[in-house]
Amino acid sequence: MQNASLKQLSAQLAQKKVSSVELTQLHLDRIARLNPDLNAFVTVDADKSLAQARAADARIAAGTAQPLTGIPVAHKDIFCAKGWLTTCGSKILSNFVSPYDAHVVERLDAAGAVNLGKTNMDEFAMGSSTETCFWGAVKNPWDATRVPGGSSGGSAAAVAARLAPAAIGTDTGGSIRQPAAFSGISGIKPTYGVVSRYGMIAYASSLDQGGPMAKSAEDLALMLNAFAGFDARDSTSLDRPPEDYTRALATPLKGLRIGVPKEYFGDGLDGDVATAVEAALAQFEKLGAKRVALSLPNSRLSVPAYYVIAPAEASSNLSRFDGVRYGYRAPEYGDLSDMYRKSRAQGFGAEVKRRILIGTYVLSHGYYDAYYLKAQQIRRLIAQDFTEAYKQCDLIMGPTSPSVAFGIGAKASDPVQMYLTDVYTVSANLAGLPAMSIPCGFGEGGMPVGLQVMGNYFTEADMLGAAHQFQLATDWHLRRPAGAE
Ligand code: GLN
Repeated sequence: MQNASLKQLSAQLAQKKVSSVELTQLHLDRIARLNPDLNAFVTVDADKSLAQARAADARIAAGTAQPLTGIPVAHKDIFCAKGWLTTCGSKILSNFVSPYDAHVVERLDAAGAVNLGKTNMDEFAMGSSTETCFWGAVKNPWDATRVPGGSSGGSAAAVAARLAPAAIGTDTGGSIRQPAAFSGISGIKPTYGVVSRYGMIAYASSLDQGGPMAKSAEDLALMLNAFAGFDARDSTSLDRPPEDYTRALATPLKGLRIGVPKEYFGDGLDGDVATAVEAALAQFEKLGAKRVALSLPNSRLSVPAYYVIAPAEASSNLSRFDGVRYGYRAPEYGDLSDMYRKSRAQGFGAEVKRRILIGTYVLSHGYYDAYYLKAQQIRRLIAQDFTEAYKQCDLIMGPTSPSVAFGIGAKASDPVQMYLTDVYTVSANLAGLPAMSIPCGFGEGGMPVGLQVMGNYFTEADMLGAAHQFQLATDWHLRRPAGAE
């Protein structure tokens, strides 16, 4: 049952072969058994989840079910959920119970999905390994000595270990795609503005985008159908006609032009990842796609530009955490500024402090032009590279990450090495473009490899269609770690 697709689960619920209460209980039992080791979930509330499951069963009985009604979904702990502890992986929010639902949570609730709990993440989504969390590191279900990727590593590990049929994550510079790649699952970051950021705790607002993580492209399409779309409460939400993300699932690949940027296959890419990605590209060609060699000349500037812009926005966004209205407050302090200082010093972890320092520095008078302004100019050039590229191709493909999942602790003391793992993912965020990762093989140590599929603005349905065709012809997405029998 835990290996079924969302479509299969939906059919079984409709045919009353299983109830939502049974399905939810099955996943709660798996969480109780496997989570103490994996640390993928930080909050589970069986009573709340089962109450939602009972409501879903009533809805199924009444004949008013939607495709996700009764299906348990895990939420990255960056999404506010009414009455749930919502910590963003940080001590500073370790006691924060949200008084309201994020748009995504509200939409999944309206669709009848069951909130299965909140998943672990890098503190404030800053990281590529899910090691910077206040709640401790998450383990990779394929190999417990390795990281699951980050920052949505809890969501990725939960889906990979079959603790949840699907999960939601956020992606500011790769945090849906890279953990999906490291954990052998599928994940998509939509075009900026497609999924509302309302109630999604802000890291870098011009880059943040929520999206689904699941076992297959088809599952991702069903998830997106439930929560993509306009929301007046997010000023950057795009008011566009409703999209059916399943519409291109059956479209054959014949004639599809796949751009392969030479910059994504240069120095720094591990051989095992290159081999698996090459084999996937060959598979796409076998299915009728054509390969187009191209260049994204400013790719090498994406990591430096990102690590100026993201911290700059973070330093502003995180100024609201001051210990006054909610969150952690230092137990002892002198005057008001001492209270701010101590609460923030004790409440934030080292990586978050590093980002606040970098961000404040690059925005400060005298350095603004040299760093922040320059990074914004580079951002424009990176977006222009993609505009040029999409004149020659329909989709762009390459590796999601230069390596398979690395060991826990391997890069934790070297931030620059950690930042460099984002080399293929951050450009999509800088340009606001949609991008996804799907499993495409295995590399060193038997660890999963992810193929990144990128598209032009608003082509999510086509990307999901191409990925689904690949998944019909291959079974990488069906492979699962030993513990997920
Ligand atoms: N690894 C990147 C960072 O640390 C991206 C994180 C994300 O997408 N939230 O900023």
